[in-house]
Amino acid sequence: MIPVKCESAPCKSSLATYRSTYYANSLADACPSCGLSGFLVPCAIIHHLVEDRYGPIQGQDGKRYNFGCESARRGYRSHWKDPRYPRHYTPIISAVSCTDCLLGLGARELNGELLVVR
Ligand SMILES: [Zn+2]
Ligand SMILES: [Zn+2]
Repeated sequence: MIPVKCESAPCKSSLATYRSTYYANSLADACPSCGLSGFLVPCAIIHHLVEDRYGPIQGQDGKRYNFGCESARRGYRSHWKDPRYPRHYTPIISAVSCTDCLLGLGARELNGELLVVR
């Protein structure tokens, strides 16, 4: 399952569904809200980057980094158009939105949100 949002005209023009996210098996699925297919786009998931001298990402600071979760590490080896390909990542923990990365950081659920409490 991948997190998606719907870009169809009916969903984008309704305040009730504008920012809704859903889980879909593929981008070709029908939107659960408007019922149209072909309008689902992947949501921005922000993964955590951890320092790893053998990691695939070269930081601007000259150090190497790897993703905090297994699905991003695997997704990075797929085509960039694949919905699992990690497009967004940050070493700043408070900006991370990926559930797996947050759980890997020891996040707790607080008021319905996963937060890293330090
Ligand atoms: Zn829709
Ligand atoms: Zn992640």
